[in-house]
Amino acid sequence: MHDILVIGTGAAGLAAARKALRDGLSVATLEAVFSGGLVTNINHLDGEVQGSGSDLAADMSAEIADLGAEAITGTALSVVRGGDAVEVQSDAGTHLARAVVVASGATLRRLGVPGEADYEGRGVSQCANCDGPFFTGQEVMVVGGGDAALQEALVLTGYAKRVHLVHRGASFRAKRHFTDQVVAHGQITIHWETRVEAVLGDEAVKAVRVRRAQGGEGVIPCAGFFAYVGLEPACAFVPDLVARDAGGRLLTNAGLRTAMAGVYAAGAVRSGYGGLLVQALAEGEAAAKSAAAELWS
Ligand SMILES: Cc1cc2nc3c(=O)[nH]c(=O)nc-3n(C[C@H](O)[C@H](O)[C@H](O)COP(=O)(O)OP(=O)(O)OC[C@H]3O[C@@H](n4cnc5c(N)ncnc54)[C@H](O)[C@@H]3O)c2cc1C
Repeated sequence: MHDILVIGTGAAGLAAARKALRDGLSVATLEAVFSGGLVTNINHLDGEVQGSGSDLAADMSAEIADLGAEAITGTALSVVRGGDAVEVQSDAGTHLARAVVVASGATLRRLGVPGEADYEGRGVSQCANCDGPFFTGQEVMVVGGGDAALQEALVLTGYAKRVHLVHRGASFRAKRHFTDQVVAHGQITIHWETRVEAVLGDEAVKAVRVRRAQGGEGVIPCAGFFAYVGLEPACAFVPDLVARDAGGRLLTNAGLRTAMAGVYAAGAVRSGYGGLLVQALAEGEAAAKSAAAELWS
């Protein structure tokens, strides 16, 4: 049995594990895919933490390995409180810990329009840095009006000859400097008050059918389709008795403890998370600190 089991090794989970290890606790991490989570796809981080997301994830992963974390590869399936321990079932087995930090983050939401799932990997992507080079010299579409959509649209201008930015609203809700760059960018065409209806193609994406608030239906030719329309929290394995907000994110108290004793939450899976990497790192540390304080009390 470990003192702390951290579920998910995105930025929040890595920060939680590092803090707990530095405080002398025994720590295991349980990660379904690979260390780093969302940041691994971001080549140029914006905000207080700068540089490459994958470098940050690699450095933090190496640090927690050096500090003695046990890294388990597996997907958490359930969390149950039993006596003095928390029992986590995963597809790799059963894991016991005195406290658990849920840092399983979020996945990018899909639009759910016809054609989107059919053309996954054949023009439909959600990683501009990874898949941008496939669209060199072609036209692509980005959907959304927040930081992620604008940031990724700008990344895609490094490859595509034209980026169609489709937004259902009449103004962006992104940081000012992203908005200013996008509006002034010669390769970006903004389609305001426009909704995507279907992704069209044959072997691969060829166009997207849209509906404009001010002018009916249209078809925009493009070879790539990137939707950044929000995040879905990844916490289906946490029992329903642990309260959530309307968006399905885990509710915590000020010490980042959930409604289940010994279970904490940090980062994009948590209600109230601000959305920035620097906040994920701070929340991971805070959750580990609270868990440690409770273990020592
Ligand atoms: C396109 C985009 C660009 C961004 N750019 C910036 C930026 O420039 N600057 C900035 O500050 N922020 C940026 N952000 C926000 C920031 O990257 C994220 O908010 C932050 O990385 C979230 O970290 P996290 O650890 O909470 O979650 P995640 O990164 O989602 O990590 C969660 C981890 O948990 C794992 N996991 C999930 N479910 C399970 C399970 N059942 N069992 C085991 N493991 C599981 C996942 O595989 C993943 O590794 C960006 C976000 C996006 C989407």
